[in-house]
Parts: sequence; structure tokens; C-alpha cells
Amino acid sequence: MTDIKNQNNLGEATKLLRNTYNRTNAKENSEALFLTSSFVFDSAQEGRDLFSGAIEGNFYSRFTNPNIDSFVHKLMVLEGADAGLGFASGMAAITACCLAFLEAGDQVVLSRDIFGTSTNMLQKYFCKFGVKVSVIDGLDLASWQNAITPKTKFFYLESPSNPLGKIFDLEAIAKIAHKSNVKVIVDNALVTAALQKPLKFKADLSLYSATKFVDGQGRVIGGAVVGDTELCKELGLVLRNTGASLSPFNAWVLSKSLETLNLRMQAHSKNALEIAEFLETHPKIAKVHYAYLPSSPYYALAKKQQKSGGGIISFEVQTANNKALTKEETLDFINQTASLLSLTGNFGDTKTAITHPTTTTHFRLEDKEKKQAGIFDNLVRISVGLEDVVDIKSILNKALEKA
Ligand SMILES: *Cc1c(COP(=O)(O)O)cnc(C)c1O
Repeated sequence: MTDIKNQNNLGEATKLLRNTYNRTNAKENSEALFLTSSFVFDSAQEGRDLFSGAIEGNFYSRFTNPNIDSFVHKLMVLEGADAGLGFASGMAAITACCLAFLEAGDQVVLSRDIFGTSTNMLQKYFCKFGVKVSVIDGLDLASWQNAITPKTKFFYLESPSNPLGKIFDLEAIAKIAHKSNVKVIVDNALVTAALQKPLKFKADLSLYSATKFVDGQGRVIGGAVVGDTELCKELGLVLRNTGASLSPFNAWVLSKSLETLNLRMQAHSKNALEIAEFLETHPKIAKVHYAYLPSSPYYALAKKQQKSGGGIISFEVQTANNKALTKEETLDFINQTASLLSLTGNFGDTKTAITHPTTTTHFRLEDKEKKQAGIFDNLVRISVGLEDVVDIKSILNKALEKA
């Protein structure tokens, strides 16, 4: 955990690049990689003081390592956070929050439109230890309010949602929570701090699967939480006691990634908006879900909370006679794009990825739940990458001609 409060008044990009890492005696310009499980003490007394917490420093990479520190420090700069921690994965970060803040009898309120594994994890493991999990429609502010009990510990949500790009009112939800002394955790993996800073809208913690746009190049698994200092202290103890630690190598990769996050997210957004606009006017597209389209019901809120729309679009494909494609027809449509696009369930890569949510990321849902959630058989998600946008458009156009 690093404190950046005392740093001087540089701009965000300068701080990110210049104020987040201490050069070693080797005088490297790019960050060194610290593949070491432990660190040595200058004296036995220093060892004693490190273990007792009297002084801060690195002694064992389960809890601190210069590469993790540098990665987290950069994320703190981008989020405007006072504290933060790295985790082995996004799921490790979410699990740590639950371990840190929940006990038997407590309740947690989840937005229905969060990453499915987050809901599954809480229901499968924390329910058996007596935690109550309430899943609500996060768009309806009254249902957040109504879900609160004296035992509610935190609200958990994602904005924008995946794959439908629903936008949730972060400030209004935080206001409801804080009136009842409930904390707010926002999963910010989809647009990242480059486009949205949840802490500015009064979230207590901003959480990451760094595996997605933070890495941005599809290489490593990682996670992080940044925000309130006291809450991060509790999370630090969970990390130390459970060992869901980020590997120094992955932290090194992710730390370098953050140096270009702003530029990459702008480029993803620019390409995605162009694709969304193209799809919106295409006769074989029944509907496009992208909050930065002025036609989106979420446009105004997206403009308030985000700098741009981000890289994820979903859309519903139909025939020339306005008939929704069947499941098999939609799979065939996706196959037609495979000469250029990556058929993969992941998102947030420089390479454009195309996915069929109903048979992959959302396959566990019952048919009724899928319909309710708006995940139809003809829905396709793309994570727009950084190829020449004209080429992405052209392959989608060709596939649509055959649909
Ligand atoms: C992928 C993802 C996660 C899980 O992250 P991992 O790094 O795969 O553990 C959590 N939340 C969201 C929004 C995600 O997309």
C-alpha cells in the first residue's frame, strides 16, 4: 500500500510516469523486475521493526513487492485514490472484499447486471457461512433503498454493464448507501479509470479485473482495489492472511500497461463509436447497445460519468425481413468474421474479439433469466480493438450481407 497524498502538484500523466517508482542503484530507465520472494534486512532490528509494523518496507512478496507497489501506485494516480492493493485476479479482489467486510448474518446487495462469477461466488460460498445476498435491478434506485437492512454492509455494482452497456447512477446509488452507513464497491473493469473515476462519484472502493483493459493486450491475469485508506487496510490483512497475491511479473506487465491506458482507452472508444454508428444504420441490425450513441437511453448519464464510451458494443442481428436470427444463424454470422476477428470470451484486448453471450459468458442462465436480462439468441458482443476501423467494419459488413 502506498500513500500518494504528499506528492507534489504535477499533472496526472506526469505523476503516472514520474512519481510512481524509485529507480534502483542500477539506474534503469524502464522499471526493473523484482522476481524475489523475500527481501533482506539491514539488521536484525530492522527485521523486528518490519514484522511488528513499526516501519514500512518490503520483506515478503505475498504482501509487498516493488512491482506490485508500482502498479498499484499508478492505478491510485489514475483513480485519484489514497490507497490500493494488487490481487492475483479480479475474482481474488472481489473475494477479498467479501472476506474483509462480511460476517455471518450480514447482507450484501448486488446489481443484477454484474459479472456472473461474482454473484455465483457470493451465493456458492458466502451464503453457506450465513451471509445474505440480495440481487436487485440496479437501474431502479428504489430497489437499492428497499434492499437495505440493518445488516447491509455494501452495495456492489458495475457500470457500464457487460454486455448491454447499461449505465447506473453512481452518485445517486452512493448517496442512498451512505445515508445508511453502507459502503459502495464499483467494478470498474469495463471502462477503467481512464474513462471513469468511481471515487469521484463517492464510491468507497473501485475494483478491477486488470486482466481486461488494464493489461489491454491479453497477456496476464490480475486484479486490484483502490480507494478508502481504512478499507484498504482491512483488505491488506486479507491479502496477507489468504495469499491471493499478484505475481511480481504480472504486476510488472500491468504497471507498464497503465502508462498507455489513457491513450488506449481513447482509441478503443473512437473505434467503438464508429462501429456502433455504422451498425445502427445497418438494415440487418435490430438494435445496438452502446451508451455513447445519442439514441441510447443511457446517453446523458454516460456523458456525465464517463469521458467516452469504451470498447464494448453489443448488437442484435436480424434478416432482411426483420426476423431475429436464430441461435445457429447467429453462430454462423460470428463464424463469418473469424478471418479477422478473434472468437474468444475475453475482452479488452488490442485485437477485436467477438462473442455470442447466450452460449458462452451467459450460458449458465436459464432461458427465462436470459430473456429477462435481454440476452437474446441473436445478441453478439464485440470488444473493439485497435485495428484499422475500416477493416473491422468491412468484415462485419460482409458477415451481415450473408446473415
Ligand atoms: C473478468 C471480470 C472479472 C473477473 O476477473 P478475473 O481477472 O478474470 O478474475 C470481474 N469483473 C468483471 C467486470 C470482469 O469482466
